Amino acid sequence: METVASALEKVLQEAQPLRPAQVDLPEAVGLVLAETVVSDMDAPPFAKALVDGYALQSRDISEGRRRFRLVGTVRAGEWFSGAVEAGQAVRIMTGAPVPTGADMVVMLERGREVGEWVELEGELGGAGAYVMPRGAEMRAGDIVFRRGTVLKPAHIAVLASIGQAKPFVFPRPRVNVVPTGDELVDVACRPGPGQIRNSNGPMLWAAAHRAGANVTLLPPVVDQEELLYRTLERALSDADVVLVSGGVSMGDRDLVPKVLTALGVRQVFHRVRLRPGQPLWFGVHKAPGRRALVFGLPGNPVSSLVCFYLFAKPALRVLMGHDRRRSPEPLARLRVAWEHRAARPTYWPARLWVDRSGMVAEPLPWQGSSDMRTVTLADGFLFVDQGEHRFQAGDEVQVLVID
Ligand code: AMP
Ligand code: MG
Repeated sequence: METVASALEKVLQEAQPLRPAQVDLPEAVGLVLAETVVSDMDAPPFAKALVDGYALQSRDISEGRRRFRLVGTVRAGEWFSGAVEAGQAVRIMTGAPVPTGADMVVMLERGREVGEWVELEGELGGAGAYVMPRGAEMRAGDIVFRRGTVLKPAHIAVLASIGQAKPFVFPRPRVNVVPTGDELVDVACRPGPGQIRNSNGPMLWAAAHRAGANVTLLPPVVDQEELLYRTLERALSDADVVLVSGGVSMGDRDLVPKVLTALGVRQVFHRVRLRPGQPLWFGVHKAPGRRALVFGLPGNPVSSLVCFYLFAKPALRVLMGHDRRRSPEPLARLRVAWEHRAARPTYWPARLWVDRSGMVAEPLPWQGSSDMRTVTLADGFLFVDQGEHRFQAGDEVQVLVID
């Protein structure tokens, strides 16, 4: 059986960044840039006024002149065609190009206009005051962002300013979610005897959506080979990742591994030493020009969720062009003493928060892998290795943070 670390290693080995595609600029937020972008112009493209005021020559100010002849006004979007001579000033608005000849702007509040003239007083500054020089932010031909940059709203603004209307990014993976199980009824239905509502389907849709994928949720499919085969065949045909829920344990109705194998999905591993989540199945499906990663997630809701965060989310991140190297799982200090006997390496729901000394964890009272309600109170999971543990308050434990 795999360890969590070896299983994750294998998943990441099979994950490849998706082929870059162009997207409309605002929709690139959160995605990873797949090209190195170069500025097509200087920014700002002209020396720009940073306040409303008067553009003039700093030499006049340093020589003591305080009275200037107003020779015009320039606003953002306009261009002042003349030049500012000694003794002259141009009224200028924020964002307007500083006219030729002028090398500083004095704030509007420092001036008093009398007819054709303006009189200045107070602190006026010197050369360059309130002027952003042409190209101060970047110059034409500069490399602005490199391939691999994760795009935040600020990046979207800079890309817009250099004309990148449709940047190349690593696209959102297409994910199909396939819940399986005879007992499942749709969320909108009232379960009959022995039935339960399909909660994994919406949960996995939500988790994959949050991880950045384009997700389709298929209706639950019963544990019947023929139907499973047809549903999974369709699910494999148009996805980068298929998240199957249920049917991967040892029961006589756990048909998913068999059906996936029949469909040509190559098993990479089945079962991981882990609680919750031991039955996890993982394989790869290759068809001409395409490749899908297939996760057979345990039906148990918390198992499914833990396996998603431990294995599927890191894979989605690689598909989306994020760095394959992963930062180590963070450590947190236990707020309370905690005794725990772990029959297997265990992820245990916990509240997590940050205080002045770092991350703090408090294990939640939890009834095991079908108790999802307690998990709603958790910010993540504590990791405890197999064995008998007597933690003191303040001891460090590894954590898996979930969003
Ligand atoms: P399985 O992995 O199919 O043996 O399912 C394990 C447990 O998870 C059983 O108690 C199932 O009823 C439950 N389960 C399976 N699929 C779902 C689902 N989509 N939503 C909620 N519970 C499920
Ligand atoms: Mg089942």
